[in-house]
Amino acid sequence: MDEEILNNINNLLSEKKNIVLIPHSSPDADALGSCLALYHFLKDKNDVSVVSPNQYTEILNFLPGSEEIIVYENDKVKSEILFRDADLIFTLDFNSLGRARNLSNLITGSSAKIIMIDHHENPDDYANIMISNSNMSSTCEMVYDFIYEFDNKKINNKIATCLYTGIVADTGSFRFPSTTSKTLKIGSELINHGVNVTEIFEKLHNNFQFKRLKLLGSTISNFKKIDELPVLYSSISEDDQIINDFKKGDSEGFVNFGLSVEGIFCSVLFIEKKDEGIIKISFRSKGDFKVNIFASRYFNGGGHEHASGGVSKLSLIETEKKFIADIKQYLNENYE
Ligand code: AMP
Repeated sequence: MDEEILNNINNLLSEKKNIVLIPHSSPDADALGSCLALYHFLKDKNDVSVVSPNQYTEILNFLPGSEEIIVYENDKVKSEILFRDADLIFTLDFNSLGRARNLSNLITGSSAKIIMIDHHENPDDYANIMISNSNMSSTCEMVYDFIYEFDNKKINNKIATCLYTGIVADTGSFRFPSTTSKTLKIGSELINHGVNVTEIFEKLHNNFQFKRLKLLGSTISNFKKIDELPVLYSSISEDDQIINDFKKGDSEGFVNFGLSVEGIFCSVLFIEKKDEGIIKISFRSKGDFKVNIFASRYFNGGGHEHASGGVSKLSLIETEKKFIADIKQYLNENYE
């Protein structure tokens, strides 16, 4: 870490502070893992809270400290007091305020210093201290480095479990291109702190309801191929969700199945969210196709080169039609 950043943070943490840690909305394992690891690291000398913009998947309730997470949607008054009194805010695993959704006004309205730790591209300029590196596998890997720089002796089993969970989730169990020898070394270090690798795998991947398996089946059978393009897409309608008792996190990983087909280099999943009036879109790709550029140009989104998201305010059918037209045009223009 840059010496100036290190000194600035050391100064900020030299006295007891009120600290609020924030993941992006609908936080995943990397977002919550990084928040909770920092929570355990900072809480013996500071008053620390984790405030999530909205509810997160119950699959992540095994993370040590998750019982302390405050969900803004469920506890607005308490959250607003925490923001009012905060000296320091860490925003973790996102780099544009829009991804904090309903917390973005509280962040901008706060007099606290803001520290961003994040591994996405093109960070917005809202933080006083920006620790941003899109070459990192995960925000958890960055939080490991952060803790290591300040006091590596404080890494304990709880911190290690939170960090390991975020790293395995964001690297697809150490197999995505963002995995480096350093990522693996950190994984190994965390195992030395007693992380239970098998238990984390079971909690993340083998902990679902039977109906979620049915939903996976229907999503896979819904996959369609765009004629003459190496692109597959599928969708989960509101009806599919009702029939299968859909819960937050149930569709995690479904989009990747499109990439399991020989010759396919882009897979897309549309999820209808009638209550929000949007279609949430997940993009995944392989090789040269940088799906974050496509997502930001056509679907108000972004993310990583091979894993991005976006939104559409059209209906599910209209969104699919727009996507087919856009991707044909985009691939013609850029990859012929
Ligand atoms: P998802 O498909 O929801 O798993 O998201 C994949 C990646 O895209 C994540 O790393 C997110 O950070 C990013 N992402 C998802 N939705 C959006 C969005 N609306 N705007 C920008 N980035 C997004």
